[in-house]
Amino acid sequence: ETLSDEFSSFLDSGIYRLPGIKAVFLDPVRLLNLSYTRYSISASGYYCRTFDSLGKGRRTNIEAGDSYVPKKKKRKRKRRLPQDLNEQELVAEKRHQDVRPFLLKAHEALLGTTELLLFLPNLVKDEKFSVDRRGLEQSFIELGRLWQAPLYEISISIEGNSKEVQEEGLQNVDSSGRTVAPLFNNLISNNASIDVDAEFLNRTYILPSKSCFHTSDLRQIHDLIPGSSDQGFNLIVIDPPWENGSAYQKAVYPTLPNRYFLYLPIKQLAYTEGALVVLWMTNRGKLRAFVEQELFPAWGVTDIRTYYWLKIKPDGSLLSDLDLIHHKPYEYLLLGYVNKEKVGPHFIRNFQDIQIFISIPGAYSRKPPLGKLLEDHLPGPKPSRCIELFARELVAEWTSWGNEPLCFQDCRYFMER
Ligand code: SAM
Repeated sequence: ETLSDEFSSFLDSGIYRLPGIKAVFLDPVRLLNLSYTRYSISASGYYCRTFDSLGKGRRTNIEAGDSYVPKKKKRKRKRRLPQDLNEQELVAEKRHQDVRPFLLKAHEALLGTTELLLFLPNLVKDEKFSVDRRGLEQSFIELGRLWQAPLYEISISIEGNSKEVQEEGLQNVDSSGRTVAPLFNNLISNNASIDVDAEFLNRTYILPSKSCFHTSDLRQIHDLIPGSSDQGFNLIVIDPPWENGSAYQKAVYPTLPNRYFLYLPIKQLAYTEGALVVLWMTNRGKLRAFVEQELFPAWGVTDIRTYYWLKIKPDGSLLSDLDLIHHKPYEYLLLGYVNKEKVGPHFIRNFQDIQIFISIPGAYSRKPPLGKLLEDHLPGPKPSRCIELFARELVAEWTSWGNEPLCFQDCRYFMER
């Protein structure tokens, strides 16, 4: 059987537009791979699920070739009835009922797309074996808290990298052909047009071309404010460490009380002629009220739209029952503009009221990359200046900030091309 044009283009782009509805299916591995020239992301590394005992978090040994294993139900979740809900939960439940038919329609569209559906299991496996997965990953969060944090250096090696990198890519090269720079509280960039290797405490990290990162605590985020306001960012993606009472999440990374996010310098980071702000939410009703009433007003974000991320398993079924009150198979994000009056009206018109993207979730609650999907909504000059706050990975031509932006750049998540 011949493949449709949509499917062929999906194999390159990682985006499949579902027929008859404003929804797409995304393959995060393909989307991330658009950032790399010498390496590719290992699908089994991206999807490996390590739902082992609490407290170990991410620092467990992942066996090579280990892929998505549907886990057994940990415990029976109690089904709560609408009469048990408080006011904010009722509002959230109402929103759920409103979006439910669209989510189901998007899921049906996916189930009706046979060529894609049959291909899904292939997305979570690698064609070849990935690079060495031995050894423990570094915990950047723990290292950053040590008194000696300012002394830690990352070394970007030139020998292993091509001539091109040697010429255009790196400054401050020492006599042994390495660039060495403090890892913490420092903006580090790979200016070359190919991926480069970096060493930190005996582990190798892959830095995509033209990527830039800053490993620091919230208190240092002001270092990222551009010198002149016309150099601000056109796209600001934020996935805050919201508190949510999930014990598993607490083991993986520290969370912060909501009021801390009021001080994120979004206005100062934003491009003066308009910037798109994208905020990942959790399904708690209380959070929505905080964002609408306090956070977005403090950041100057207006014109708010919602996108939904519907999560499926490799067999195409929903990750969980659509109607569980505290465990939905979807998450959502709010999008809005800063300096909206400067954004051309055609941008705002471009926006649709409900946008749904479907994907198989990666391990460690990794969010799918959104840059490509949002490309057409970005105000300002091209190429757009994009930044991710609280990032755990790097993207070509983006700036990543957080206390562990190198987290998923560990070579264990990559294969050589
Ligand atoms: N979007 C990311 C992804 O898909 O991988 C996940 C981001 S996660 C929700 C939040 C991140 O914020 C975690 O990496 C956490 O370590 C980081 N974080 C928590 N407290 C922080 C702080 N005080 N300063 C900087 N980053 C912090």
